Amino acid sequence: MQLKDSSLLKQQAYIDGSWVDADEGGKNAIRNPANGEVIAHVPDMGAAETKRAIAAADAALPAWRAKTAKERAVILRKWFELLMANQEDLARIMTIEQGKPLAEARGEVAYGASFIEWFGEEGKRTYGDVIPSPAGDKRIIAVKQPVGVCAAITPWNFPIAMITRKAAPALAAGCTMVVKPAEATPLSALAVAELGARAGIPAGVLNIVTTARPAAVGGELTANPTVRKLSFTGSTPVGKRLMAQCADTVKRVSLELGGNAPFIVFNDADIDAAVKGAIASKYRNAGQTCVCVNRFIVQDGVYDEFAEKLAIAVAEMTVGDGLENGTVIGPLINQAAVTKVDGLVADAVGKGAKAVIGGAQHALGGNFYAPTVLTGVTSEMAVAQEEIFGPVAPLFRFKTDEEAVALANNTRYGLAAYFYSRDIGRVWRVAEQLEYGMVGINEGLISNEVAPFGGVKESGIGREGSHYGIDEYLSIKYMCMGGI
Ligand code: NAD
Repeated sequence: MQLKDSSLLKQQAYIDGSWVDADEGGKNAIRNPANGEVIAHVPDMGAAETKRAIAAADAALPAWRAKTAKERAVILRKWFELLMANQEDLARIMTIEQGKPLAEARGEVAYGASFIEWFGEEGKRTYGDVIPSPAGDKRIIAVKQPVGVCAAITPWNFPIAMITRKAAPALAAGCTMVVKPAEATPLSALAVAELGARAGIPAGVLNIVTTARPAAVGGELTANPTVRKLSFTGSTPVGKRLMAQCADTVKRVSLELGGNAPFIVFNDADIDAAVKGAIASKYRNAGQTCVCVNRFIVQDGVYDEFAEKLAIAVAEMTVGDGLENGTVIGPLINQAAVTKVDGLVADAVGKGAKAVIGGAQHALGGNFYAPTVLTGVTSEMAVAQEEIFGPVAPLFRFKTDEEAVALANNTRYGLAAYFYSRDIGRVWRVAEQLEYGMVGINEGLISNEVAPFGGVKESGIGREGSHYGIDEYLSIKYMCMGGI
């Protein structure tokens, strides 16, 4: 791999400020999803190494917590600057292990870094309250304190941002953390930790445990009583299991889980803007994002026009290795993902849907799937309920507003929803009726560091980003002072 700073490519885990191997010497091979080549090996760790990482985080906690928010902010600011200074190398590492086009990877580095910059400052504003007392001789004060040692378990689709969205508020709040990155994408996590060390994050404050056996590491992170909070981003089934595992030690839990995002296009929408928003939301990261549109719900009067314009835009997308100039759609993460996407398309077509473009694996073979638009999709097809996680746009048809909202809400998920309309009354009504944590109105890209990201229903608990995001790492302590 060609990097300006080759020391960013780490092949060891990071525990207590040291780069270390697995106790038994086990390794996990990391493959480039664009061609299957092994690019690196990282330690395959288990419960024993995780226990040591937790102990290191616990030992580092008192000194880190005792620093002022301003002192922590100086370190976080430096960390942010180092991420941006190494944006190109970090982007290359990400593209090679995850597959997304280089331009998107650069964007994710900046997006991931933005959480560090923002939360470093927000740590200075974790205000408490002085509450008017019902008794004249008492004073009531509420302060916010760091939760303590935290654990983070993150997915492969955003190898940097899903870590910094947790680690930045945790560290800014005065917590320490053990991170278990996804087994497919540990290299980005390790590079980010190396830059953290260069920025001056003390040993033990941020630890990265790599593994090919997530249940072994996850078991320790959830059972160990020293860990006071788990923040998880990933699929709903794994999130449910981890939540149950955390019950025994009553840990605080934040969950950012799966989605089934609807994208409603009303007859009064600006169709060209809707197509632009659709492309941005649906096909980014080859459709492998939790806030990706999963269902296009299009009104009768504009259905054909929207389908036609979307298919024209999709036809222009270049599929290929993310490192190649001009690539817009990279490979899916692995063969299992290709099989799943292909199965969902086959199910829809078998039940009467039509692939107006794509509908099969891409001619490049391997993990590449052709960007697809399906028309004539109905609620009986599996794509109505299952997360596609691939570059496939299924188009459902509706007549009335009530029908559109009912269709949109007919899912156990509630992460992101989108709709396009130019009627101000409808905009308010529909935005309020959608049972989702986030709603994009005439906008397909909604994630940024200042806004509260998160879901309702089986899409999760808690918020990341914004001032709500740091509350996840703070406990409220009430102090009652008597004898005044
Ligand atoms: P996943 O649930 O398979 O894995 C997520 C993480 O959990 C990985 O680090 C994995 O190693 C770990 N894991 C798996 N089994 C575990 C176990 N038994 N114990 C402990 N850890 C375990 O999800 P994925 O395939 O990596 O990511 C895709 C999913 O993540 C999608 O459902 C997507 O919607 C969701 N996601 C959600 C958000 C959000 O913010 N809501 C963001 C990105 C991705």
